[in-house]
Amino acid sequence: MQILTFDIGGTLIKSAMYDENLGLLDCYEHEYPRAGVEGVLAILRQEIRKNEKDFDAIGISTAGLVDAEKGEIIFCSDAIPGYTGTLLKAILESETRHPVFIMNDVNAAALGEGAFGSGKDFKNYVCLTYGTSIGGAIVIDDKIYGGKSGYAGEIGHIVTHLGGKHCVCGRKGCYTEYASVTALLNKCRAIDYRIRDGFDIFANFENPHIKAEIDMWIDEVVHGLTTVCHIFDPEAIILGGGIMKEKYLTDEISRKLRKDVMPGYENVAVLPAALGNKAGLMGAAENVLRHLKND
Ligand SMILES: [Zn+2]
Repeated sequence: MQILTFDIGGTLIKSAMYDENLGLLDCYEHEYPRAGVEGVLAILRQEIRKNEKDFDAIGISTAGLVDAEKGEIIFCSDAIPGYTGTLLKAILESETRHPVFIMNDVNAAALGEGAFGSGKDFKNYVCLTYGTSIGGAIVIDDKIYGGKSGYAGEIGHIVTHLGGKHCVCGRKGCYTEYASVTALLNKCRAIDYRIRDGFDIFANFENPHIKAEIDMWIDEVVHGLTTVCHIFDPEAIILGGGIMKEKYLTDEISRKLRKDVMPGYENVAVLPAALGNKAGLMGAAENVLRHLKND
């Protein structure tokens, strides 16, 4: 059996083919030929046509809030105009006559990390992704915990600063406004306007002003993780996002978190994500296998 997978993001779409042991057969990155949902469908249809005789099911990891049951994009920001409301599963199943399984990208990455990456030794863990915002996924007994509607895990919108900065969600003081990589970048750019990304931040690690900003940012990261530990008592917290490859960050987050939590919670493992930008694709393939096994 072969599974065609897609990871749909705001700036590009990745596609990959996996065999039933989740061995990677090939993988591509596609830039949007045109903006919005039409661009998404154009790339998906092109890859489906190209691989027409070679796959048995489709797995999709996508940006936005997803109703996995219906396979509908319930909400997506302006990153992909017109995407909200798209019945992706129904469209692709009617066009290909193959089963299609869709899930949110952060949940897919968590499933991928659990099957093949940093989560493989754990049954109960929380994955957080730090980038322009903060994504979260909760895994309980080896399954994604979706809550009542499948939307659980919006850890970026825990309020960590009462009456704090305005957030895109319309509320004030959310974790993402203080602990995303964007928040750290804004602070560091005020010190050196040439800093563009996480790589530049750590290239300036010896600058004591930058180092101080990194350490204050770690405190913000830990502040939210302490709440996560107290609610879920996870075996592990897995930290995703390119910046978390910096060993200083995971070491310091782990050290400070263990000091910050109440007694009894301090054995939580803190690990960087292992699969990088393939986590979503692998999770999408794993999601297909789990569905087909249960049918
Ligand atoms: Zn918010």
